This record gives sequence, C-alpha cells and structure tokens, in this order.
Amino acid sequence: QKVLVSGANGFVAIWVVRALLERGYAVRSSVRAAVKGRHLEAVFAQYGDQHEVVVVPDITAPGAFDEAVKGVDAIQHIASPVPVYADGENMITPAVNGTLGMLQSAMKHGDALKRVVVTSSVAAVLHIGPEPQEFDEHDWNEQCLEVLARGDADPSVTTLVKYLASKTLAEKAVWKFWEDNRGRIEWDIVALNPPYVRSQPVMHDIATPSALGASMSEWFTNVAKIGATDEFLASAGGGYIDVRDLADAHALALEKQAAGSKRIIVCAGAFKWQDFLDAANTISPPLKLSTPLPVGVPGAGSASPGAVHMFTYKTDRAAEVLGLKYRSLTDTTRDILTDYEARGW
Ligand code: NDP
Repeated sequence: QKVLVSGANGFVAIWVVRALLERGYAVRSSVRAAVKGRHLEAVFAQYGDQHEVVVVPDITAPGAFDEAVKGVDAIQHIASPVPVYADGENMITPAVNGTLGMLQSAMKHGDALKRVVVTSSVAAVLHIGPEPQEFDEHDWNEQCLEVLARGDADPSVTTLVKYLASKTLAEKAVWKFWEDNRGRIEWDIVALNPPYVRSQPVMHDIATPSALGASMSEWFTNVAKIGATDEFLASAGGGYIDVRDLADAHALALEKQAAGSKRIIVCAGAFKWQDFLDAANTISPPLKLSTPLPVGVPGAGSASPGAVHMFTYKTDRAAEVLGLKYRSLTDTTRDILTDYEARGW
C-alpha cells in the first residue's frame, strides 16, 4: 500500500511519514522544493525504496498533484500554510485551492485510491465566546468567516482570523467536493481536527533551540527554560495532542473503514502550561538539563479548583471510530525533556 503525504517536511507531517513507514506502508513524500526533501531522505534512508520524495512546486497550480497521485492507495493531505511561516495574505488561497486541487487530481488520476485524509483543525470547529464551551464535530467556525467578511478584525488578530478562515474554508471545500462527487468516485474522505500541536520530541534538522519553530519553541521556553509569569502559566492553555498520537490518528484514519466521510476531532485533553511544569518537576530521577526547570506555582493549573478551560472538545468519535489512545501529559513531557537532555539543551 502506497500513501502520498503532502507537505511531508512539515512539523506534523514528518511524524505521519514515520508512523506510516513503521506500519509498513510505502510513502511518497511531497515537498515544495528538492532541498526540503533532503532531511526526509536522510531520516528515512533505512527504508530504502519504501520511501520516495517528489517535488510539487506550487500546490495551487492546476493539476499540481496529477503526477503525485498516480498509483497511490491513499493520500494524507497535510500541506497548508500556518501563521508562523505564512503571511496573512497567503493563507486562504493555498489552503483552499491546494486542498481542492489535491482532490481534483485524485479524481482524475487516483485509479488505485481508496481514501484521502485531510488534516483540518479545531480552527474549523471552535468559536470564541464569553463562556467556556465544549465543541464536537457538528460545530463549524462561522465566526471567523463573519469577522473576515466584515473586515473589522483587530490588526493584532488579523493573521489568526485568516488562519482560522483558511482551515474552515478548506474543510468546507472538502465536504462540498464530497457531496458533489461521492457518486462518481471509488474512494472516500476523512478530515482530522486536532488542536494545537506543540509538544513533541524534535525530529527535524534542528541543531540549536533557536532553530525550533514557533510551536516547539513555545513549549521549550515555557516548560524547559524561562517559564512565564505565574498568572500566564496557570491561566493560559488550550487543547493539546502529542504529535506522535496525531501521527497514529492519521494512520488509523486510513485503516478504519468507519472513518470514511467523517470529520473527527482528535484531542488528548485540555491543559494549562502549569500542568507541563508540574509534570516536568516530578520526573524522577530529575533530568540533567542545561538550566534548572522553571517551577511556577505547583498545582495552580488544571488541578486548581478554580481552573477554567474556555475550549474543550468531545472526542468520543475518535475513540469509537479510530480507537485512538493518547499518551499521558506526563509521558509526553518526559519524552520531550529526555530528548532535550540528550541534545545538551
Ligand atoms: P508546518 O508549517 O510545519 O508544515 C506545513 C507544511 O505545509 C510544510 O510542508 C509547508 O511547506 C507546507 N505549506 C505551507 N504553505 C504552503 C503553500 N503555500 N504551498 C505549499 N505548501 C505549503 O505546519 P504544521 O506541521 O504545524 O501543520 C501541518 C498541518 O496541520 C496544517 O494543515 C495545519 O493547519 C494543521 N494543524 C496544525 C496544528 C499545529 O498546532 N501545528 C494544529 C492543527 C492543525 P514549506 O516547508 O515548503 O513551507
């Protein structure tokens, strides 16, 4: 079984490629430029012909994936701009047209295709309100589209609104494509909706902490190094998933028949930054990191009686359909810090 993974050099996708290779799939990794495939080739060299890299320079070009989809049994469409690396203007078009273009190439040339998994996000699910809310797969983020249409977003959140809209519009385009074409295609579609994915051991070509992308450096800074104000650590957070569990979810989304034509929220739970610090400071024996761990106020995070999580998610579908299990926050924390220790950070 061969799987095409788009945006394979990305923060999430490299772990998906790894999970698929470990499960015995052949993987065709697509990247924007040959140079971005070099690290993938090196990391997965042991897999020989089981792994190949192809270059798709512009995912919005008509027929961009026509060649890449030929002969694959499944597709993991992960490529999409994230705010840290993309400027606000260039998020929606690549997200929507890149996704639709993948589906159109699949329809034209995916003769062996059985399933397409699209990496969406809780960005396409949630909306911001004054009270804590629990979301499920019936929820759509119409709010970001309304704000975008009004054009009156505070400049400090414009990029965020565009990112939320890019994910919402891309996933809406997926399900519209599915409704329009389901009678004409032999394959089906799954959308995965993860929350922020900050936590993971490093697998990219990163020599120093300064080269960590924004997602990983946030965890590094808050948990391993400097910490933040006690108030921030106790109050700031969200939903989380270990990237390795998200990679498993991508593999399971290919394998579980019942996942077809569903969107599925995959989230390990709600966190406050203090939770990671508490886990880090109870690792025994303590790890030998280059600087002492911040402490914050132990117990002031989710364990605190007054803790409020503004966004939580029902994850019954991921459990029932995918059988997805999550690492504990303690295990995730230990694995990341053990990785940092080995790197001398
Ligand atoms: P990365 O930025 O690490 O990876 C994004 C990938 O998409 C890269 O391969 C990147 O290529 C490619 N890409 C970005 N913009 C374009 C474009 N305009 N044209 C072609 N390729 C492009 O992000 P993540 O790994 O964090 O995100 C992967 C997916 O997961 C995205 O769909 C994201 O929305 C989703 N997601 C991520 C979450 C997170 O917290 N990280 C949370 C929920 C969902 P290049 O390296 O060449 O720029």
